[in-house]
Order: sequence, then structure tokens, then C-alpha cells
Amino acid sequence: DDAMTAQTLRALIRTIPDYPKPGIQFRDITTLIRDPAGFRLAIEMLKPAVARHGVSLIAGIEARGFIFGAALAQELGLGFVPIRKKDKLPGRTVGINYALEYGSDRIEIHADALAAGDRVAIIDDLIATGGTAVAATRLLRSTGAEVPVAAFVVDLPALGGAALLHAESVDVFSLLAFE
Ligand code: AMP
Repeated sequence: DDAMTAQTLRALIRTIPDYPKPGIQFRDITTLIRDPAGFRLAIEMLKPAVARHGVSLIAGIEARGFIFGAALAQELGLGFVPIRKKDKLPGRTVGINYALEYGSDRIEIHADALAAGDRVAIIDDLIATGGTAVAATRLLRSTGAEVPVAAFVVDLPALGGAALLHAESVDVFSLLAFE
């Protein structure tokens, strides 16, 4: 069942204290994807939560969102759109700046990646403050696409990101939470 699944996945995620800076507990999914059954289980659990929204595309956030997003896209028979950090995409782009704790960052997609009427699911490994996922939602919607759902392997509910994203009218789904 789902509780057992969450436990299985949780046991495969490694926690690295004080990375990338003191006080951060980094939830490392490389140990999960290194395990074939664990990787498959994660994709199998994400699949119905995304499929029920009838999406036409999967958009993954650089870099770990590419891993889960691409596998999920294959599983659903859908195309994949990479949401990249600034200046990585070769063609004409549209982007959005968003605030970080210190400073700001920018994510971009190819200007021709989406068409009005596309329904896009956002995928990433983890949602923390939600800053990245909210920016991704606004970027995708700025092209005329719909963003009905965002799915994550890990939620850090104490940081409020899922609530913030939900307030943008996105259905937020995650496989497990770390307090
Ligand atoms: P945020 O915009 O605060 O929701 O941060 C989300 C992005 O930062 C995701 O792409 C995550 O991969 C990464 N991230 C933030 N906090 C952590 C953490 N504690 N462990 C692993 N990745 C994290």
C-alpha cells in the first residue's frame, strides 16, 4: 500500500547533513535511482497522480527533475520539456526571474516548446520553499499552457512550498515528506 511504498522510498533516500551549507539536511535521491526497484517504484507511484489530470506534456526542472520527469514521460507516452537554468538552452527562450534566500535566479524554456492548449505537469525531485516550482508554474502559464499538477518525490512541508504552490491553483502531489 501507499504507506509501505513511502517507507520503501524513504529508506532509499540518503540524508547528507550540512550540504550545501551548515544547517541544511540534503535529501539525496541518487541512492534511490541507483536502486532499480526503488526507481521503478517512484515512477509507478507518480504515474497515476499525474495521469489523472490528462496532461499532454511533462516538464522537468533542472537537474534532478529531468531524471524523474523523463522516466515518467516515457511511462505515460508523453513528450518532455526541460526547464533549465539561465543560458543553457540553445534556441530562443522565455524565462522568469525568481528570488532566492540570497539573490535571485532564472529559469527558462524554449519559446516554441509549448502551445496554447497544452496541459503540462511539473516534475522535480523535491519541493522546499516552493520558489522554484511557483516560478516554473508562472513561466509555463505565461505561454498560454495550463499547469494543473506538480509532482515531487519529496516534500519538506515545514518550508511551506506545497501550500504556496497549491495557492497558485496547482494540485500538488508528493510521495513522501521529511519534517
Ligand atoms: P525550493 O525552490 O526552495 O522549493 O527548492 C527546490 C529545489 O532545490 C529543488 O530543485 C530541490 O532539488 C532543491 N532542494 C532544496 N532543498 C533541498 C534539500 N533539503 N535536499 C535536496 N534538495 C533540495
